[in-house]
This record gives sequence, C-alpha cells and structure tokens, in this order.
Amino acid sequence: MLNASAFPDPPRELPRGRGVFCNRTLNFRALRAIGYDMDYTLVGYRADVFERRVYEMVLESFLAEGWPVEELVFDPEMVARGLIIDTELGNLVKANRFGFIKRAMHGTQALDFATQRDVYTHVLVDLAEDRWVFLNTLFSLSEGCLYAQMVELLDQGKLPKVRGYEELYRRVRAKVDAQHLEGKLKAEIAAAPERFVVLDSEAALALLDQRTAGKKLVLITNSEWSFTQRMMTFAYDPFLPGGMTWRQLFDLVIVSARKPDFFTERALFFEIVTDDGLLRPLVGPLQPGRAYLGGCAAQVEQDLGISGEQILYVGDHMFGDVHVSKRLLRWRTALVLPELEAEVAALESFRDTELVLAARMEEKERLESQLSQARISLQRLRGRYGPAPSLSPAELETSIQELRSRLSALDAEIAPLARASTELTNSRWGLLTRAGNDKSHLARQVERYADVYTSRVSNFLHATPFVYLRSPRGSLPHDPSSPGGPPLSPAISAEEPGEA
Ligand code: IMP
Ligand code: MG
Repeated sequence: MLNASAFPDPPRELPRGRGVFCNRTLNFRALRAIGYDMDYTLVGYRADVFERRVYEMVLESFLAEGWPVEELVFDPEMVARGLIIDTELGNLVKANRFGFIKRAMHGTQALDFATQRDVYTHVLVDLAEDRWVFLNTLFSLSEGCLYAQMVELLDQGKLPKVRGYEELYRRVRAKVDAQHLEGKLKAEIAAAPERFVVLDSEAALALLDQRTAGKKLVLITNSEWSFTQRMMTFAYDPFLPGGMTWRQLFDLVIVSARKPDFFTERALFFEIVTDDGLLRPLVGPLQPGRAYLGGCAAQVEQDLGISGEQILYVGDHMFGDVHVSKRLLRWRTALVLPELEAEVAALESFRDTELVLAARMEEKERLESQLSQARISLQRLRGRYGPAPSLSPAELETSIQELRSRLSALDAEIAPLARASTELTNSRWGLLTRAGNDKSHLARQVERYADVYTSRVSNFLHATPFVYLRSPRGSLPHDPSSPGGPPLSPAISAEEPGEA
C-alpha cells in the first residue's frame, strides 16, 4: 500500500477566484481538441490601457470632423461588461436574468428609482431586438463610455447633425469599429506590447500539458496574422522550454476567422505561406502545424475528424465565441472572464457583512409575518368572522404599532448593508454576475452558453488536462435551506432546458 509520501505534492492553493467553475459537467479526458480564442483569452490585456487608447483615437477622429468632444475623458468605471445599451432612449442598463431592468443610467447620470420605474416597468430586455446592444467583451468599454458621454452632448444640443440616440449609437459604433480595423491601434500595441499585455507565465505550460496529453490545440482568432504573430510570440515564447515557439503548441492556427460567422457559415481557407503573411488558397484538407486565414468551423471538424462534444472552445466573447459555438455546433464551451478574480475576492471580503444582512433579513421576514397575522386578526374581529383571536382589538393595535416601529428600525439597519452589497467592485453597477438580489443577465448567459467559466487560461494548468469537472446541484427556492438560511452566493448553475 502507498503511504502519503508516495503521492505527488498537492496542487498549489490558488485564490478561489482562479477556479474553473462548472455549469455542466465536463470531462477533460474525453476532449480530443481544444480551440482557443486569442485576444483576452490566450493573451490578456490591461483593459483600462487598451480601451483608453481606443477611446482617445475615436475622440481624435470625431474632433477631426468638428465634433465638440475635446472635454471628454475616458472613465474605465463608467461601464462594465454585461451592461446593455438602450439605443432608443440613450441609456445604459443592467438587467437581471429575466430581462428586468434593475439599474439604468441616462448619459452619465444614474436614473433615480421613480424615473427608472416609469421608463422601464413595462420593458423587458430582449437581446434579439435591435434596440439593445449587449456589451459582450472588454473591448466594449470604450464604446459604452463614449456613448454615455455623448448622449449628454446630444441632450445639450451640441450635436445638431445627429438625429437621436439610435443614430448616435451607430456613429460611435462605426468609429470604434474603424479603430480596430485601421492599422494605427494594432501597430501601437505591436510596437510596445509590454504596455498593453498582461503576461501570464503559466499559460504556456497549461497549453503544453494539454498538447502533450494528446489534445489537438487550435487557435481561432479574429485578429489578423501579423498582430497574432506578434502577440503570441510576446506572450508565449519566453515561457516555453528550450527554443520552442508558440507555433509548435498548435495543430492549427486560424487568423481573421470572422467569428461568429466562422461557426455558422461555410467559407474558404487560405494558407499563410510565409511569415510576412503571403496567402495561397487552400486546396485539400487543413494540414497539421500550418497557419490559415478565414475558413469555417465545419471544415475544422471535418479535417480533424472531430465534432461537437469532443471539442472545447475557450473564448472571452459571450456571443462570438461561446453562444454561437454552443448553440450551432454543440461544442463544449469555456468562457474566460478576467473580472472574476476581483468579483470573487469582493464577495469573499463582503461575506461577514452578508451574514449580518442575511440575519437581519430573516428577522425582518419574521416580524413581517407577525405583522400580517396581527392585521388579519384585527380585520376578522372588526368584520365579525373567522376564529376569535386571543388578543383584544386594542392589544392588536398596540402590537401592530410596535411591530411597525421595529420594522422601520430594522430597515434603517438593513438599507446601508443592502446598498453596500450592490456597490461591490463598481459603485455604479455592482458585481458583474449580480443584479439586485438576483443573477445578472450576463450571469444568465454564462450559465446558458458556457459549460465552464474561469478567469484565465492558466487556471487550466492547475486543473490539469485530466480533470473531471462536475456541475453543482442546481438550487431552487423550495429547497430545504441549510441552518444558516438559503445559500448566500448560489453558484451560477444548471441549464434550463426548453428556454429560447
Ligand atoms: P479574438 O478575440 O482573438 O477573436 O480577436 C478579437 C479581435 O477583434 C481583435 O483583433 C480586436 O481588435 C478585434 N475587435 C474587437 N472589437 C472590434 C470591433 O468593434 N470591430 C472590429 N474588430 C474588433
Ligand atoms: Mg477574444
């Protein structure tokens, strides 16, 4: 029999926020291929630095056209991934999992409760409608911030040529789009990647482990070849053993992939035949170790001889990477959410306060129930029906007064705690995965489309390519609660079949 010292060291303890969280059971041993997105997945960026540059470039472009935007300044806290632009009303909103709007901002000012209720009581967010724009990735921060600020200029009559919020959104979108497509931004990043890239020395080993364990690795990025080459070399080569380069990690490299169309449509591949990006139309099947441009997922499946459940795709774009590959191809999916580390840390540091809040809420429910009982007893006494209560009308009235005043004292205690819980990580918007007391729209999308989610690719290193990730049992409001009450931080869990 083996003694304890015959086992290898246990894995290094990581902060909880670096876990691989599982919505649907995923057995890594059964995977034959793993596809990776590049930007914000294999290569992390300092979103505040990257987005500030995009913002500044867009501003310059508007200025050159005579728009009065010289006073505007980028505020990385103004918006967050998962918020939704309401292009009809010029608002940014945060919705819960049902699409109810829980917070809203017009321009850069939060809507007060009464206005928000008036505007949105009868409105449900449906992302299939053109009205709504979901901020899918960290690339959306510059666009969201700029739009919010420019709505104010529009309201002040300073943008006379723009006819409304919807047109304003299209103008901002077109400018942001152009910055990504024109060479200047990418050239600046390529010239000084150390300013923009968050290096993760463990990511290379995570991929090497997976490859050596027999997984086919495929890079599928919307970035163009020269940028991909530069970023991957910068982020991976220094951390690979003896002269190995990032290219040797991948069975296939696919750039300018045009996701999400890559997953849904048929398109031809071009082979990249030289390092400076010379192209040749692909004739015949994809060849191992080569780099390609364009193409489609159908041919990747066909030429690798794998499909659906055998391939895991790892990306950061809620729609372009995860939603479409899952819905159409039934690939297994992993969402990379760098914000998760701060999110989990904030939840952990708030835990003691949350326990106090939960205890006060329990007390509030108890008092409310006593108040309801006292009121119904009084109502029956006065209406001369139902069982006779043990207390007289005067006693009931006194106890109603007493309960009301205890409840209002309790509310005064609860209010600041509840507010603090909604301001974690971002005072305007709160946690990414929460909206009010519920899951956010983003969290709902994560659970629907991402089989697993994690803050960065190197978290797979610690899980190993042999891990069997099991989803937690989904909880429901009628589940018997534990002695401490219902779970305070229910995991984002189980799929709800039958939903659109
Ligand atoms: P991926 O995440 O590796 O697929 O690459 C994302 C690519 O999309 C990067 O090259 C980004 O610069 C680019 N990108 C991000 N947002 C936009 C946009 O709004 N328009 C065009 N390209 C974008
Ligand atoms: Mg990406």
